[in-house]
Amino acid sequence: MNNIMTKIISFANQKGGVGKTTTAVNLSAALAEAGQSVLAIDFDPQGNLSSGLGIDKLNTAKTIYEVIIGDENINDAILNTEVENLDIIPSNVDLSGAEIELLELEDRERTLRRKISELYKEYDYIIIDCPPSLSLLTINAFMASDSVVIPIQCEYYALEGLNQMLRTVNLIRERLNPTLEIEGIVFTMYDARNNLSGQVIEGVKSVISNENIFETIIPRNVKLAEAPSFGMPITEYDTTSTGAQAYRMLASEVLSKSGR
Ligand code: ADP
Ligand code: MG
Repeated sequence: MNNIMTKIISFANQKGGVGKTTTAVNLSAALAEAGQSVLAIDFDPQGNLSSGLGIDKLNTAKTIYEVIIGDENINDAILNTEVENLDIIPSNVDLSGAEIELLELEDRERTLRRKISELYKEYDYIIIDCPPSLSLLTINAFMASDSVVIPIQCEYYALEGLNQMLRTVNLIRERLNPTLEIEGIVFTMYDARNNLSGQVIEGVKSVISNENIFETIIPRNVKLAEAPSFGMPITEYDTTSTGAQAYRMLASEVLSKSGR
């Protein structure tokens, strides 16, 4: 069984383009930089987490798909990244078929959870990057997780999506995983020159308790958008950028929440 001290966190929002993968990649790297051992699992068929960490996703023999559907040993699918303390299980477009194939499995919501419990190495954190949907893949991620980080882009429709997200987390809690927590909502792509950014934050804060919102706000920073094309997290691509600083602050919030 996996060590009880491992904290497993899913990054989810059914909307695409809100900063899930950017946050999963860079928080993983910032936690690793802080000396934590981290496994990042790419659970989106788009494979952006994999390419963002420099993995050639089309030439990897084993991906998370082979693990959950092909019954491959999870330990054999782990790759090292260029970042010290940071390992990854990649994914690619093959995973898009898993949605249907999972339906035929017994205990289909708990497949990822069972596989993670078979890990040999004990990680401090396991970070799961979810697809932009509330699908069976995302439910598998929620079933395997202790908590969920919900990235919210500072734009007009943010609140609508957030309510749906929170309803889903509540449903999972009631029916399937009662210990699933909200690690926090994190605002991404904040632009101080744009009034809307501030309004969206105020809007969310008026309906969500502060303890469920990270204090760190991720600014819009072009370096964060550039880094993935070099296969590097921001902490390595531009170590002093505002983006790198923000993700280090977010990592220290996550660490202190888990008393580390
Ligand atoms: P998701 O995983 O939710 O679909 P991504 O993390 O892929 O979202 O982000 C969507 C796009 O926005 C990507 O091109 C990414 O590089 C860019 N992006 C994300 N966060 C920021 C940021 N803080 N500043 C600038 N660009 C960002
Ligand atoms: Mg993504």
